[in-house]
This record gives sequence, C-alpha cells and structure tokens, in this order.
Amino acid sequence: METKIALIGTGGTIAGKGASNTDLTGYTAGVLGLDEILASVPGTKPYGPYTYTQFSNIESSDITVNHWLELSKLVQKLVNRDDIGGVVITHGTDSMEETAYFLNLTVHTDKPIVITGSMRPAGAISADGPINLLQAIQVARTPSSVGKGVVVVLNGYIDGARDVSKCNTTNVATFDSPLVGHLGIVQDGVAHYYKTSTRRHTQASVFDVSKLSELPRVVIMTCYGGMDDMVPMSVVATNPDGLILTGL
Ligand code: ASP
Repeated sequence: METKIALIGTGGTIAGKGASNTDLTGYTAGVLGLDEILASVPGTKPYGPYTYTQFSNIESSDITVNHWLELSKLVQKLVNRDDIGGVVITHGTDSMEETAYFLNLTVHTDKPIVITGSMRPAGAISADGPINLLQAIQVARTPSSVGKGVVVVLNGYIDGARDVSKCNTTNVATFDSPLVGHLGIVQDGVAHYYKTSTRRHTQASVFDVSKLSELPRVVIMTCYGGMDDMVPMSVVATNPDGLILTGL
C-alpha cells in the first residue's frame, strides 16, 4: 500500500507574514494556513500523497499543556492508521523543543514524526520555511528514520527531541543539541544519520496519556544567587501538584 504523510499545521513563523519582504523580525506568526504554506514549497509531490490537519494557527509561545495533550492524541491516532507512513508537524520555534519532547515521550510508534518551522516569515527574503518543510518531509520518507523517535529538522540538520535546543533568537542555524550533537543531516532529499538516541522514547516510552483529560499542574522555577524565599513560597502557596527547582 502506498502510505501517506500526515501534515499537521500548528502555526509559528513558518505560517507568519511580515509587512515587507525585507522585514525578518517584525511579523505576525500563525497567519497562513497549511495549504498556503505548502503552495510555496516546490518538489513535495514525489514524497506524497498527503493528509492535512490544521490543528491550530498560533504563536508557539501560546502553546499550553492542553495543546500538547490534544496534539499527542491526534498524532497517536494518525500513526495507528495503516495508510499513514509518517507525520510532519509545522510549529513555531519558541516551544518546538518542548512539543517535540512531549510527543517523544507520549506517542507510541516507530513511524517517523518530524517537527519543523522557520526563523523567517513566509515570503521574506531567503525565507527558510519552504526548504525546512521539504526537508522535514524527506526525512519522514527516509526508511532509516523509522524508530528514531521524534526529530526536529531545520537548516539541514536532524536533532533528537530529547536533546534539541533553540540556541539563537533570530539566526536560521538556531537548533542544536549542545550536549550530544546533531543526529544527522538532510542531503539530496535523504536523511543521513550519524547517531541515534539510546534513551527510551516513542514505542518504548513508559508514559501513557491516552486516558488523561488534563496533566498535573507542575511549576518549574529557576534558582539564582540571592533568591528570596518569597519566590518559591509564593508558588507553594498556590498548592501545585509539583514544583521543579532548577537549582544551583
Ligand atoms: N514566535 C514564533 C513562534 O514560536 C517564533 C518562530 O516560530 O520562529 O511561534
């Protein structure tokens, strides 16, 4: 059976538009639909057919844990289908690493799940969205992407969801895995892997969110020298389900 790639649009700069094509920062994210983004990408036909889901169209700084739960369930439903060979998600870069890691821990599959976005809005000079989306699709179609877990593809690099970080606010070379390095590269329409993550993910993950309608309220707090007790105590006073301190 010829499988399909399931494309999911969530918003971000890849769906963003600026007032002029030389404006690389003063734009509105999450404006264009998945169909409009795709129309600007040449060369996708050989990697199809596709299914399309517009999950949301928002800045990724507006993504909440409820979005993650819903997105995880949607991706699980798609990968459970025999006619779907892989999933490609377009997403804002601000919270891309969080979304990737959440899906890496909660979607149970060996099928490729690839997340991409852009640093420059659609239509801008040297926009990176079209090439990033094409390369994300090519990674999803590469047989060696099976079993790699959720990966982030931007700027020709493939990074594992567990390790990837956005490292620069504006540069197109922003995604990296500072501790372990990129998993691989995309070249001539194919993913080339140099390493794989040995940590449990996707198919082997112990996490199951399929029956959850909400996640516990966990607060993450960065500690710093001279931090006043008032800061953590004001959070404790709200009675969260958990508190993670990024300690000194
Ligand atoms: N603010 C944007 C977002 O995360 C940035 C981007 O997509 O690059 O939605």
